[in-house]
Order: sequence, then C-alpha cells, then structure tokens
Amino acid sequence: MSDCIFCKIAKGQIPADKVYEDDHCVAFKDIHPKAPVHVLLIPKKHIDSLAHAGAEDRVLLGYLNLKLAEIAKGQGIGDGFKIQVHTGAKGGQEVFHLHYHILGG
Ligand code: 5GP
Ligand code: ZN
Repeated sequence: MSDCIFCKIAKGQIPADKVYEDDHCVAFKDIHPKAPVHVLLIPKKHIDSLAHAGAEDRVLLGYLNLKLAEIAKGQGIGDGFKIQVHTGAKGGQEVFHLHYHILGG
C-alpha cells in the first residue's frame, strides 16, 4: 500500500533502525519504546491486521512466529519476552499493517 508507513519501512523508503530483514519480513526498533527491548516485526506483504489475514497467509504467519523467538534471542531476551498484536482500533491498533511487538529486558 503506497500510503502505509510500515510498507515504506519494508521497502527502505523511510528510515528505521532495522535489527533483522529477509525476503518475507523486517524487524526494527519501535520509535517510542515501552520496554528496554521493543522491536516490531512486520511481514513485507501488506496485511491490514491479524483479523485481515487469510488462509493464504498461513505459511507466512507460521514463519513470523518462528522469527519472533529468533529475533528475541538475537536481542538478548530469549529467556523471557512478551508478544503483543494490537488488532483493530478497539484493540489499540494505530498502524494498520500487521505488526508484532516484541517486548522484554
Ligand atoms: P500499534 O498500532 O500496535 O498500537 O502501535 C504502532 C507502534 O508503531 C507504536 O508502538 C509506535 O511507536 C510505532 N511506530 C509508529 N510509527 C513508527 C515509525 O515510523 N517508526 C518506528 N520505528 N516505529 C513506529
Ligand atoms: Zn503496509
């Protein structure tokens, strides 16, 4: 989506403090960290929210879950971390591109 800030980060069109990237996803530090470690993991594919993911996304969603633990380990919080997925405005979602908060430390 051309006007989506996280699509722009995924494409490198706006800067972010990236900690991991591959063909399917990007992880970068949250601009307003709420914990000593606060990283966001996003798929490169634009999906509005978890509620908008479909059966065609099942492999991607499984992949992202494995990456969450891998990235947490890489950030030094493999022994304890929290994942948050704000979903929908009523769920506190402000950026409508699926993202996983990785919090710890
Ligand atoms: P949510 O939609 O899950 O409620 O919150 C979006 C999160 O993205 C917030 O924690 C906010 O600080 C973060 N965020 C919003 N815009 C940017 C940005 O341009 N860069 C980075 N690194 N984080 C952002
Ligand atoms: Zn997007």
